[in-house]
Amino acid sequence: MTATAPITQDVQTIPRKLPSGPVNLIGLTRDALRETLIAAGTPERQAKMRVGQIWQWIYQWGVRDFNAMTNLSKTYRAELAERFVLDIPEIVSKQVSADGTRKYLVRIAGGHEVETVYIPEADRGTLCISSQVGCTLTCSFCHTGTQKLVRNLTSAEIIGQVMLARDDLGEWPEPGAPKNETRLLSNVVLMGMGEPLYNFDAVRDAMKIAMDPEGIQLSRRRITLSTSGVVPEIAKTAEEIGCQLAISFHATTDDVRDKLVPINKKWNLETLLNALRDYPKASNSERITFEYVMLKGVNDSDEDARRLVRLIKGIPAKINLIPFNEWPGAPYERSDWERIESFADIVYKAGYASPIRTPRGEDIMAACGQLKSATERARKSRAQIAAETGTG
Ligand code: SAH
Ligand code: SF4
Repeated sequence: MTATAPITQDVQTIPRKLPSGPVNLIGLTRDALRETLIAAGTPERQAKMRVGQIWQWIYQWGVRDFNAMTNLSKTYRAELAERFVLDIPEIVSKQVSADGTRKYLVRIAGGHEVETVYIPEADRGTLCISSQVGCTLTCSFCHTGTQKLVRNLTSAEIIGQVMLARDDLGEWPEPGAPKNETRLLSNVVLMGMGEPLYNFDAVRDAMKIAMDPEGIQLSRRRITLSTSGVVPEIAKTAEEIGCQLAISFHATTDDVRDKLVPINKKWNLETLLNALRDYPKASNSERITFEYVMLKGVNDSDEDARRLVRLIKGIPAKINLIPFNEWPGAPYERSDWERIESFADIVYKAGYASPIRTPRGEDIMAACGQLKSATERARKSRAQIAAETGTG
């Protein structure tokens, strides 16, 4: 064994915060909710119906007060309120960008904070959610990668980000109101802080809740999970979640990818591409998104573009070019616009859709890969203020 630090952490050893005190019903799968209600004394023959009723109140109507669940008896409501809570993370602050992007600083149990970003577009509204506080991986262009993993989020904290955004957008329907087809929050991307495939079970349970037809009702086609390339978990994403897949590809040689996305040392380009060729859900109507961050002079040559299309040949794919978003102290620069266009052109002529992702919410540090930096800066300045004024 060499003395180099491991680049990944065993999933089993990642601390997962367990609830203390009354059990939170949010984030439980339907099965787990049923078991929990039965263990608390709900007669088994009623459990399925109770699950359906409570589920609808929570996830269809956004109700978080047992007493408002009027199709349950008063006694039963009181019993629920005694034993259980309905807790989602709290919005600590909200910043709204000039372009309408909203960035929420969200506090989770233990006093940790993550960020959730809402991006309104003409035909959709996308919520970018976090799956971990920090990240075990150390991609060199990503600000989250400079922060140690603090802990995995629970399924309640993951689905809770969707719920708190719906609270803020005022988007819960009135009980009994007709279904509203035009949604402010219509899409979810797991592209915030953390590597979702290193928190697989919680991400899966939360996304199952998001897709449940009796609740938040997002189609699996409107949920995209982005991974740096945790190969053993990729097939499971199709089988157990069924959402869309995006891969943080970012380089066309192992040498460069080893530096940008160090998990490549564990599962290299060939291994990753083989896993994608075998991906059970890939088809022309459900393409895998290849994310490619444009770093000046590092991975943005025409040669790279040609190599990229050669590498992914045969995989139903679309390529998403992401102009690098700078953060304080970042060791890279964004590629020039002409370079990005020239790269995009080669990809496009090879037959792939190659949208260039417009950076959103840059003025509030809400763009891809910038998350948490604003918070850190705020902390630092508070600490500086304390030092300067002799307080704290
Ligand atoms: N951990 C997952 C998901 C979170 S990152 C992953 O790596 O895929 C979401 C996307 O933003 C990834 O493609 C990531 O590589 C990209 N990204 C990270 N830092 C960035 C930055 N500074 N500028 C542009 N994109 C960045
Ligand atoms: Fe983690 Fe993704 Fe950032 Fe890499 S790009 S450090 S996997 S959050």
